Amino acid sequence: MLSNKQKSSNLEAMAEMLRNLTQEDFQLVMELVEQSPVPLNEDPQIDEGTPCCPHCSSNHVHRNGFVRGKQRYLCQECGRTFGQTTGSVRYKSKHSKETWETYLEAFALRLPLRDAAGRCGIALSTAFFWRHKILDALSNGKNGLLLSGQVQEDETYIQDNFKGNCNAENNLATRQKQERSPAYKTHRVTGHRHKRGKATHTRGLSKQKICIPCAIDEQGRTLSKAAGRGMVQPAHLSFALSSHLDDDVVMVTDKSRASQEFCDLNSLPVVQLKAGIKGCEVRGRYNLQKINNLHSRLKGLLAPFRGVSTKYLDNYLAWNGFEAENPGVGRLDLKEMLLDRMQAIGRCSTYLEVFHKPPLPFPAAG
Ligand SMILES: [Zn+2]
Repeated sequence: MLSNKQKSSNLEAMAEMLRNLTQEDFQLVMELVEQSPVPLNEDPQIDEGTPCCPHCSSNHVHRNGFVRGKQRYLCQECGRTFGQTTGSVRYKSKHSKETWETYLEAFALRLPLRDAAGRCGIALSTAFFWRHKILDALSNGKNGLLLSGQVQEDETYIQDNFKGNCNAENNLATRQKQERSPAYKTHRVTGHRHKRGKATHTRGLSKQKICIPCAIDEQGRTLSKAAGRGMVQPAHLSFALSSHLDDDVVMVTDKSRASQEFCDLNSLPVVQLKAGIKGCEVRGRYNLQKINNLHSRLKGLLAPFRGVSTKYLDNYLAWNGFEAENPGVGRLDLKEMLLDRMQAIGRCSTYLEVFHKPPLPFPAAG
């Protein structure tokens, strides 16, 4: 048996060969595959008989007894033990696989939490926890991402918001009220009195808007990150993008000084286009259409929430990225993709990590 790493490099090589085929040859290959008498192999990770080690992806594993009625395995390569759900989103969850599948479907359909909780027979708080467990996994999946080729970059701004920060601690375990100053007092810059929602008296771009640099590359891979407050600064762009740009990147941005400075600072080639209300400039193969689509998609995704808490913003950005990276995919196919993705996420977030998410670490400029 091949390890997962070898397998994926083999598959990549195969995909490369297929891409280089002419249309006719490609059709021929497809016909041969369909006529093949051998049944197509199932992914061993999904087949419950032969799991791979989630720590080192080796297939060399032995059964290692049961814990609470569930089979454990011992990896012969790295010597660590694991269960059927180690490394998946269901790790340490007491709910069944079926409940999780129903939830992932509700998630893919973008159902409101209350509906999702009803369908799965789980509590509302559990539904919220699961949403952010999934989103944390999608967000962490972006850590090693490298954008390459033509990278369109632009910022969008979202009102800061402190929904649900005040009582989170008081509702947990002890149920005793703790003296704790709510986040809107410590983090909102103007001392605005409302706990949540909009600062209605401030219009336009102000320090109460969170600056979100977004980028999308030629392959359609996206990166969006809440980076700070107010008008975009080069530091915001460095915070969001610098570790995610490959050597061959050509930045395509609007005519903002911050992006000019950021590109100069990192010696990146840049094409700056005029972006207006009447549509953006297109110069040769350079345009800002993909990034504008990403922004309008984000507005659409966030609209029903009437504001999301700023500390969860990165998670919603990852959600938007996931949907944008799979355009034109039906909601139910999206569920299948999520199901696959959630099998191998490495480490999954705990209840406390989700409910006690700290305010976002903004760079000094923010
Ligand atoms: Zn191992």
